[in-house]
Amino acid sequence: MTLPTTHVSFPAGAVTGESTVLAVHPLDGGRYAVVTGATPFHPLDHTWPDQPADLGTLTVDGVGLAVVDCLTGAVGPDGGADGGPVLVGADIPVRRGDEEWSWLVLHVLAADPGDIVGRTAALAVDAGRRGALSASHSGCHLLALALNEALAPRWRKDPGRTDAFGHPDFDSLAMASSVMDTEASTDTYRLGKSLRKKGFTAEATEEFPALADALPELTEAVNRRLAGWVAADAPVRIDVPGPELTARREWNCELPEGAARIFCGGTHLHHLGELAELRTELRLSEDGSELVAVTRPKRA
Ligand SMILES: [Zn+2]
Repeated sequence: MTLPTTHVSFPAGAVTGESTVLAVHPLDGGRYAVVTGATPFHPLDHTWPDQPADLGTLTVDGVGLAVVDCLTGAVGPDGGADGGPVLVGADIPVRRGDEEWSWLVLHVLAADPGDIVGRTAALAVDAGRRGALSASHSGCHLLALALNEALAPRWRKDPGRTDAFGHPDFDSLAMASSVMDTEASTDTYRLGKSLRKKGFTAEATEEFPALADALPELTEAVNRRLAGWVAADAPVRIDVPGPELTARREWNCELPEGAARIFCGGTHLHHLGELAELRTELRLSEDGSELVAVTRPKRA
C-alpha cells in the first residue's frame, strides 16, 4: 500500500491538529521522519524553497517529541509504506504535484521515536515562529505588487505577463530567488539581457533617471504604497481547491485597488492590520545586474 498524499491545514492558518501516524522513516544523520495522515505543519518545498519549515512538537501517548525540521517527501508509484523509499527534498526527481507520486509532510525528529505507527499524534506548531514567517510571506507578495507598480513606467513594451493590477509583472519576470525568515523577506531580481529584451529599461531616458539614481524615489513610492495597504487592514485568505499538500493554492488580498491573487504554497496573515508597519529597502549591485529588496514587517 502506498502512503497517501498528506492533507494539510496550514493554508487556513491552523497550528494544531491530531492525526494517525502512518509511517516512520529513518533519514540520513540518525534522524527520523514521521508521516501522519494530516498535519498543520508547513514543510520546506523542494521545488520553490521560499518559506522555511515549521518547527514544533508531536506528542504521542503523552510523550512530546521535538520536530526539529519539516521537509517535503515523495514516494514514487512503486514505493510503499513498508520499505518503499521515501525521497526527500532535492533527491525527488519530479516536480511537486506529479500525480503518480504521493507527497508527504515529513516531521523530522532528532532521535528514533520507537514503534508509534498507528498511534494518534497531537501536532503543535511553534505559533510564534509561524506568525513571523506568515508576516514575512505576506510582505513578500505585497512588495511584489508595489514594486511592479513603481517600475511599470520603465517597460518599453508589454512583456506579455501582468500582475493582478495589470502592471508588467517585474517580480515574476526578473525573480532569481525569494527567501523568507522570521525577520524579513529577501527578494533578488536579475536585471539581465533577457529582461531588457522583454522591454525593461534600467538606463536613464528622457522620462526617468537610471535605475541606480532612481532607487531612493522608487523605495519611497513602494513604501508609501505598502503603508497604505497596511493602514487599509486588507483581508487575506488562501483559496484551497483541495486538502492535499500539492493542491494549487492561491493567495488573495482584498486591497483598496482591487482583489490581488498570487499562486502560493505558503502561510499568511489573515489581515494586514496584524502589521504595524511594512517597509522595504532596495539595493542595486555595483554592476547593476541585481536588484535586492529586503522587506521587513513589524507586527502590531
Ligand atoms: Zn507565496
